[in-house]
Amino acid sequence: HANTAMYLAKSRGRANYQFFDPALAQSAYTALVMESRLVQAIERDEFVLHFQPQVRCSDQAVVGAEALIRWNHPERGLLLPDAFIPFAEQQRLMWPLGQWVLREAVRSAKRWQAAGLGATPIAVNLSTVQFQAMGFVEAVERVLHEEGVPGAWLELELSERMLMDDLPEVRAKLQRLKALGICISVDDFGTGYFSLRHLKELPIDKVKIDRSFVQDLPHAPDAAAIARALIQMALSLGQDVIAEGVEHPAQRDFLAAHGCEQLQGELISPPLAAAEFQTWLVQQRA
Ligand code: C2E
Ligand code: MG
Ligand code: MG
Ligand code: MG
Repeated sequence: HANTAMYLAKSRGRANYQFFDPALAQSAYTALVMESRLVQAIERDEFVLHFQPQVRCSDQAVVGAEALIRWNHPERGLLLPDAFIPFAEQQRLMWPLGQWVLREAVRSAKRWQAAGLGATPIAVNLSTVQFQAMGFVEAVERVLHEEGVPGAWLELELSERMLMDDLPEVRAKLQRLKALGICISVDDFGTGYFSLRHLKELPIDKVKIDRSFVQDLPHAPDAAAIARALIQMALSLGQDVIAEGVEHPAQRDFLAAHGCEQLQGELISPPLAAAEFQTWLVQQRA
């Protein structure tokens, strides 16, 4: 642990040089423990996916589900992604973990289809590490092929930051994914530095309006103006719009009245474990 602690202490700059900082030592220790535990967790199959339904505004019909990873930690219980994804990204574990998510998501969609619940497209979150990796498109293609699932059942969620790197390169990569039938969406839309040019020049199918804009609807004038502008912008470029983090009927009504077509959030359902989600789907389809 000493090396990591020293490294972290030094990285704070000469002026702040501290030989021993308990908080820092604690964080270095945490990083180290996390690293070895994450490797084990992959081997021991301790990760699970939860699924959050996405519905159409007009008639509440299910249009898909977002896969959200959890770590079923033997001592600490169910951990949310923010508690371990950042570590996985630092430790080069994001590629194997991301591959696991992709395969598990596609398999889940296959299970729902086999259970007679129809095709329910599944949205998978990507991390920068995955999207930028050489051979990413081929890896996605391989999973679809091996699982025998059409690309149209898969949606990939990218953040604005991931899409801003090198426009021609990103565009080419997205076009190859779209050629497989995959839907491309922009997650947390409105929170990054995305420009209108990016939105216009990249082959994006759908934007997900970030929860932070939905939260204060419908009464806060700023939130209302921003939400309206984001919806209009996407719609006028021919993209689909979904709002995330919808918790109250008044938010839903505002969004629907201003052209937002799809909803995701606790008002409809929180993220559900696989079995619960399947039960939910059965009820909806009935
Ligand atoms: P996200 O993609 O923006 O996912 C939406 C988050 O909002 C989820 O948190 C979800 O549980 C939460 N949420 C949904 N409805 C509501 C609501 O009505 N109110 C509120 N307050 N929250 C709501 P979660 O599951 O903790 O995931 C956090 C983030 O972790 C995700 O944000 C996503 O960026 C990342 N993530 C999740 N799964 C994966 C994965 O498999 N791979 C990667 N790279 N990142 C993932
Ligand atoms: Mg997402
Ligand atoms: Mg989001
Ligand atoms: Mg968000």
